[in-house]
Amino acid sequence: MRPSKSRGQNFLVQPAIANRIVASAALGAGDNVLEIGPGLGVLSERIAAHPIARFTMFEIDPRLSERLAKRFDGDRRTRIVMGDFIEADLADAFAQGPVKVIGNLPFNAGGAILRRLCECSRAIEKIVLMFQREVAQRIRARTGDPSYGALSVFTQLYFEVESHFRVGAGNFYPRPKVDAEVLIMRPWSQSRFSSGCEALVLRTVRAAFSAPRKTLRNALGRALEIGAAKIEDAAGRAAIDLAKRAETLSIDDLIRLARELSADLKIADA
Ligand code: SAM
Repeated sequence: MRPSKSRGQNFLVQPAIANRIVASAALGAGDNVLEIGPGLGVLSERIAAHPIARFTMFEIDPRLSERLAKRFDGDRRTRIVMGDFIEADLADAFAQGPVKVIGNLPFNAGGAILRRLCECSRAIEKIVLMFQREVAQRIRARTGDPSYGALSVFTQLYFEVESHFRVGAGNFYPRPKVDAEVLIMRPWSQSRFSSGCEALVLRTVRAAFSAPRKTLRNALGRALEIGAAKIEDAAGRAAIDLAKRAETLSIDDLIRLARELSADLKIADA
């Protein structure tokens, strides 16, 4: 089978790494597992070897999903959904309770897939995902790290990034140009949003990072439809210096700023 570059098909060919990824999920009896991009099934085989209750795989390539359907024919725990995970209906995969999410993601879609997972973080118990290394560094970066930015903030609003390990490019076929990294994430045991403030925080974070090379004063002023004086007042109450850039703020700073902007933004969570 000819790997498709546009679908990010770099197959893992090192069994020891496949074992390590699946072991990181600590699968047990009764677990619900969701795999994104199973491909030729190197992780799927290992996942299915555990006494899990339910196993849903999302694969965009019909050639691969047909192969997987044949391979797992008769295994009543498994379900193979052919299609784009980013757009997929996840209701059935989440129907039996929280899921463990596992996958070696296509390098070109890691950020978009992670955003989808943030939207449904309440249905997730644990995530073990391999990303392009540069994307993984951005996801796990802390304030002050060179890679810290919007992707770090959006992810860490929902998930605690627990640990990681690096995987060299030579462990894939075809060999990608860059290394990969596995991240292990869990939803925060206590939500970082107080009731009713999720949409408000997301809007503030989007606005703050909308013009990364500009000061917060400029970025917020352009992106939020409220007057400069109100932004100055809110920033003053939150002890935020508007002359700084968004990437200097911690997640707690951004949440505090959003709360102080709340009276002017008037957003209700959906
Ligand atoms: N899990 C396999 C492995 O480790 O060898 C394959 C990993 S390969 C990097 C990524 C897989 O994701 C491919 O099988 C590709 O067809 C699939 N894929 C790409 N984009 C996808 C999407 N948006 N939704 C679901 N699957 C996708």
